[in-house]
Amino acid sequence: MLQDILAHNERFLQQTTLPHVGHAPSKHTAVVTCMDCRLVNMFEPALGLERGDVLELRTAGATISSPERAKADNDLIRSLAGGVYLLGVRQVFVVGHTECGLSKVDPTVLTSAMQALGVDPQQLIQQCNLKDANGLVDWIGAFKDVHLNVQEVVDIIRQSPFLPRIPVYGLVIDINTGKLTVVDDGSKAKA
Ligand SMILES: [Zn+2]
Repeated sequence: MLQDILAHNERFLQQTTLPHVGHAPSKHTAVVTCMDCRLVNMFEPALGLERGDVLELRTAGATISSPERAKADNDLIRSLAGGVYLLGVRQVFVVGHTECGLSKVDPTVLTSAMQALGVDPQQLIQQCNLKDANGLVDWIGAFKDVHLNVQEVVDIIRQSPFLPRIPVYGLVIDINTGKLTVVDDGSKAKA
């Protein structure tokens, strides 16, 4: 695949001259979403976002895993802080999606996949004090309900001592149609 990418890139450079776009997001906005491959070439058009408009942060599940939630300085918060303090972000959208892989993680499937690839789940569970396979499922950030997960992530961002009190919104996008549903329009923020 590397050779395909490099060959494509040569054609791209011959055919395309990118306009200059500033480093700071012109809409002063950060968008947190999932890494799902079906969001590629769909997510931005569905939200009306162009290159240079927003910071886009992608994590598996558009979430912060439960062991990380307790730590206010987890990687998502760190990235948002960079966006806010260094790049002028003044609002955040958390956008989960339907049919998210993290909403249906089976502990047996997870541990078998690890074993098949030479990683010992039991050793990890012991090393990281995860108790059992369900601890691994928590560690990878699995959740049951995407709407609930979006609301929880919105609340964590709102309450983070590392971030200022800026508007945070929660949405879910239908992975098949691109339709957005509002989970939190900002009105659930505690004054
Ligand atoms: Zn997902």
